[in-house]
Amino acid sequence: MAGAVNPDSVSTGARAMFFMITPNESSFQKVEDVPQYVQQATPFFVGLMMLELVVGFLKTGAPVVTLSDGLTSVSAGMISRIPLLFMRGCELTAYMFVWDRYRLLELPWDSAWTWWIAFLGVDFCYYWVHRLAHEVSFIWAAHQVHHSSEYYNLTTALRQSLTQQFTSWIFYLPMALIAPPAVFAVHIQLNLLYQFWIHTKLIKNLGPLEWVFNTPTHHKVHHGRNSYCIDKNYGGILIIWDRLFGTFAAEKDKVVFGLVSPINTFEILYVQLHYYLYLGRRSTTFKTINDKCLTFINGPSWKPGKPRLGDHLDNPKLTGQEVPHDPSWSLPLQMYVIIHFLLALGTYQDVFDNKMTLSQFNMLGMTGYVLLTLTSMGFLIDQRPRAAVLEMLRCVLMVTMQRYGYMKPLLPILAVTTQSQGARIIIVQAPSRLIFYP
Ligand SMILES: [Zn+2]
Ligand SMILES: [Zn+2]
Repeated sequence: MAGAVNPDSVSTGARAMFFMITPNESSFQKVEDVPQYVQQATPFFVGLMMLELVVGFLKTGAPVVTLSDGLTSVSAGMISRIPLLFMRGCELTAYMFVWDRYRLLELPWDSAWTWWIAFLGVDFCYYWVHRLAHEVSFIWAAHQVHHSSEYYNLTTALRQSLTQQFTSWIFYLPMALIAPPAVFAVHIQLNLLYQFWIHTKLIKNLGPLEWVFNTPTHHKVHHGRNSYCIDKNYGGILIIWDRLFGTFAAEKDKVVFGLVSPINTFEILYVQLHYYLYLGRRSTTFKTINDKCLTFINGPSWKPGKPRLGDHLDNPKLTGQEVPHDPSWSLPLQMYVIIHFLLALGTYQDVFDNKMTLSQFNMLGMTGYVLLTLTSMGFLIDQRPRAAVLEMLRCVLMVTMQRYGYMKPLLPILAVTTQSQGARIIIVQAPSRLIFYP
């Protein structure tokens, strides 16, 4: 059905960002035929972020994003996709398992009806995935990453969790009883992509669209830490689920963004994992087994004797004068961090581009190096006492990996012939990527 339209065209990629895509051009029989819409969206992410920066500057006279916060958000987005190097996404894997063994009926993959049912099904399931990610503490431990920025701009959309997919897959399984995996694989991506453009303060009220669709105004409220914003507006593409299930809130007072208790750091592994440690520590402060367990199952604001979601009036009071955490750092250090971040981004892209030819050992080495680089950049931005030592070790590792062919060298002169797993592998410099000759 999708044969008449090129699913990889620039037009399709651009329209996929806004869910402006038809069943005719995005229905596929096999999962293997479904385009990697999210993977292919990188140029549109970058283009729209640049556009937001320019328009924001023209409108307000100030940048809408800070370097420290923006880099942390993009780093979180990079980290969240690392598991996809080693496995198919949890959501699709579990979905295919249930479809293969337990499906009750088989909706036709090439019917527009199936496509629209899957759109509604994925968006409905996303509402509940998202709602429980806010109402159950051990799932919130993953999702809090997305809310940890005190800013609201397009980079915030990329601030995603490494661990959330390990819990969210279960909510989509009812759909696997009727809808083919290829249709699901399209909609799970389109649903995620739609949510990119709504992370901006530059787009105001969109009139009648606000009744039906999740918009920048509605999602802005979702990112607020004001009492009236907490646990509101969970919708993905449609806001009607919030209106139906009583979780809708319109914007009132000035929204203050971020977590109720800001983490005040740009150290990327801390951003991803700190809440698991916090929950473990918190559970030990309660005496009964029941309360210890409820720490993980009830809402993040819960305390013994309080309702399941806690009492939001117990949260720190806001004055409206809150200033986001933004430590000052020198211009040369900023330039250094930008350059090394871009080098790590190049390595990250190389791993994804060559994942079919690289050995598991090589991929682990390169992703480990990327993680170390992003961590070290966070230490530098935070200006921690151990930042210099960590950065020195990282640079030694970078040069060593380049020297022995585990990473694309900065200069062609550094390319060498190397041995790997008994097979002779020659790494040569190509215009944009490594080429491996067995
Ligand atoms: Zn959320
Ligand atoms: Zn968001």
